[in-house]
Amino acid sequence: MKLCMIGTGYVGLVSGVCFSDVGNIVYCVDKDKKKIEELNKGNVPIYEPGLEEILKKNYKQNRLKFTTDLKKAVSSSDIIFICVGTPTRKNSNSADLKYVFSVAKELKKIIKSYKIIITKSTVPVTTGDKIENILKNLKKRKLVDIVSNPEFLREGEAIRDFIYPDRVVIGTDSKKANKILKSLYMPIIKKNSRYFNTTRRGAELIKYASNAFLATKISFINEIANLCEKAGIDVKDISFGMGSDERIGDRFLRAGPAYGGSCFPKDTRALIDTGKKFKTDLSIVKTVVISNDKRRFLSIKRVEKILNNKLLKKTITFLGVTFKPNTDDMREASSIPMIKYFNKKNCKIRYFDPTGEKEEFKNLKNVKYFKNINTACLNSDLIILHTEWNDFKLLNFKKLVKKRNFKIYDMRNMYSPSKMKKLNINYFGIGR
Ligand code: NAD
Repeated sequence: MKLCMIGTGYVGLVSGVCFSDVGNIVYCVDKDKKKIEELNKGNVPIYEPGLEEILKKNYKQNRLKFTTDLKKAVSSSDIIFICVGTPTRKNSNSADLKYVFSVAKELKKIIKSYKIIITKSTVPVTTGDKIENILKNLKKRKLVDIVSNPEFLREGEAIRDFIYPDRVVIGTDSKKANKILKSLYMPIIKKNSRYFNTTRRGAELIKYASNAFLATKISFINEIANLCEKAGIDVKDISFGMGSDERIGDRFLRAGPAYGGSCFPKDTRALIDTGKKFKTDLSIVKTVVISNDKRRFLSIKRVEKILNNKLLKKTITFLGVTFKPNTDDMREASSIPMIKYFNKKNCKIRYFDPTGEKEEFKNLKNVKYFKNINTACLNSDLIILHTEWNDFKLLNFKKLVKKRNFKIYDMRNMYSPSKMKKLNINYFGIGR
């Protein structure tokens, strides 16, 4: 089939590359000229394990095309995926749909023959209805079906998640569109995953409800971790004891910093906003958002306590700054408020991240990026293990820091407190 992905970011690029790998011709469109130029040179704009290899293979075989020419890409395709961003609107909880609607308005001018238009972007309930309204003349002439097909891939594991999804959700009441999409997804759903057809509004809500539930699980164990810290219990034991119950499950049940990333913070907020529009009080989700916001502040307070409230000129080294490992995505990473705060307090902040230097910290006077772990750690007062990269799991801190009385704040509970004690290292974890 011929597909067009509009928006070549984390979702559009990964989906486009994976669809081309199972034999489709895929046009990846973006309005960002530089991104498209780089992609046409074979440079992948994001860090996503395994992506570059599959991208290059399919590009060479002419199944994958990168362009800014929306008209040509749409006219040449049967199925159009909208994969643009849906960030939080300023000073509000609602999702900003300006990118989605501007694409719909463009499509209105271009489409002359039958196309399936899919929102793969995460969009609030009724967005499909609104797109259909923009395209109502095309709909009347049976030239479009507007479908919701939310994406569940996780950054860092995006290729595997796309090729082996737990489920493919298709929101449409059009039999024609459903049949075509089932055959598009056939090479993927054959591999034991579930293809689920529901209403368009249902599909839109499944995505938000899933993300809000996962955010709830994280916030729940994070609050239990706060209790563990006070009660002298190791939260890892609680996660294990709870997670072994199949009804609960152990995934997303590990205590750590406030959740971040490009999805959970904005999607929980947007769901609250949808509740408000439908006059439904989603009190659990509201509490999760409050709990997570508080956690950012708690992490800062914890560091202050670890340093006995003596911050001035202390050298603090962050190992990892992205919101999770195997991605370069900094959106809503908990390292941002922490580093900004300690910068203001005139600490000397260093950071190392396997995905390189970050724009977010470039203009902060007390913050310095280090290209390797050794130089970043040397003579530090406090090492903060912020992101759980494999690179940080087997470090010899004494050799790295070479200073007496340094401290470690392990925000991912990667190390054993008893082993650290034996080594005479001042070690602090989360909920232990
Ligand atoms: P992104 O910011 O990485 O990419 C969006 C891309 O769309 C950008 O490259 C931008 O230039 C492009 N764009 C914007 N308007 C355009 C237009 N009119 N024409 C062409 N290109 C345009 O975003 P993302 O992380 O890929 O997320 C996209 C959507 O998918 C969001 O709704 C997000 O919530 C959802 N989602 C994201 C993930 C994830 O892990 N990142 C997972 C599941 C769902």
